[in-house]
Amino acid sequence: MLPAVLLQSFGEGGDEGDANYVSPFDATVVEKLKTIGMVNLGKLNCDEFAMGSANENSAFGAVKNPWDTQAVPGGSSGGSAAAVAARLAPAATATDTGGSIRQPASFCGVTGIKPTYGRVSRFGMIAYASSLAQGGVIAQTAQDCALLLGEIAGFDPRDSTSMDRPVDDYMAGLDNPLAGLRIGLPKEYFSEGLAAEVEQPIREALKVFEKLGATLVDISLKNTDLCIPAYYVIAPAEASSNLSRYDGVRYGYRAEHYTDIQDMYRKSRSQGFGDEVQRRILVGTYVLSHGYYDAYYIQAQRVRRLIANDYKDAFRQCDIIMGPVAPTVAWNLGAQVDDPVANYLGDIFTISTNLAGLPGMSIPCGFGQGGHAKRPVGLQLTGSWFSEAKLLNAAHRFQQVTDWHLKTPENR
Ligand code: GLN
Repeated sequence: MLPAVLLQSFGEGGDEGDANYVSPFDATVVEKLKTIGMVNLGKLNCDEFAMGSANENSAFGAVKNPWDTQAVPGGSSGGSAAAVAARLAPAATATDTGGSIRQPASFCGVTGIKPTYGRVSRFGMIAYASSLAQGGVIAQTAQDCALLLGEIAGFDPRDSTSMDRPVDDYMAGLDNPLAGLRIGLPKEYFSEGLAAEVEQPIREALKVFEKLGATLVDISLKNTDLCIPAYYVIAPAEASSNLSRYDGVRYGYRAEHYTDIQDMYRKSRSQGFGDEVQRRILVGTYVLSHGYYDAYYIQAQRVRRLIANDYKDAFRQCDIIMGPVAPTVAWNLGAQVDDPVANYLGDIFTISTNLAGLPGMSIPCGFGQGGHAKRPVGLQLTGSWFSEAKLLNAAHRFQQVTDWHLKTPENR
């Protein structure tokens, strides 16, 4: 069980001037954890406004991956994953709008769960994209994730996106046998874009599930290639709208020197926001503007519906979908800083979960082969809406017969 310590990170960025910022109130999640006696150790690094896959968009610079300090920790919740991997804390909070719990958990060899949209209150969190973002947990084991999720999940009248629906007892079913479990393998996830050094540990993990009594079923998520374009229209659109309140008047940073109010807005926003945030505000404003709204934003929403329908069809054939979290292991720090599109493409296996609002997990299942023997690989589990208990049960059973989750950068 967990000792009473916890680190928190919510997907908010910050300019360097705010390094010592202390929030005047607690988020619902923090409040709930305090109530059960958890001690909050402090803040963790994340990409600015949760936009990124490598932690390198943080105003403070990226944290290093504890397994290999040349490698990125993943993002945006890279600080949470790295802290748990380095055993600085037994667990950390994190947010996931397009993979930001699962991908850093995968890159840092720890366990992460992104619950169904609306399962955990977002009161006190800054959502990067309101229809996609959800808070969750990164910990060493599925059992710890179950314990903490059970405490933070539930309806919150202060969050209009939170669901008024009873919370399952995630601990109760952890030991359920997996006999008869149908695991769907999307053919689009096991294609040429997947690095062989990632595919191999994933295939080995699937064999473990077969030994535990599960059966593997081939399925198709046929709109997988549309996930990235749809997400990178919808998420920036919502972000541009959410961030419009950072005008230097009511909210956030204000430029020191300006001539008039227009100049104050311009300087505050261009000095206060980092490059990636500005890029997404520009994209979002463009796709929402008159003349382009139907062609981009509405079209992306239609695609989003198709993606959710693919999942509905898939869950008629299987109980849990499994596959890689990311097409590669963690890349080198600095390798993709000038190539945002390369970063976006790496989100291919995680963002459809958010577009559909589904729960997802990442559990450690091995290491890259060859030159990347120190870089962890994560197995992704995706379930139907509100099936967190089923995901945690499968993950826990896997962790009872494997020891990837027990390995640490110092002891493997
Ligand atoms: N990598 C994705 C992005 O950059 C996911 C971010 C997230 O989940 N917060 O948008």
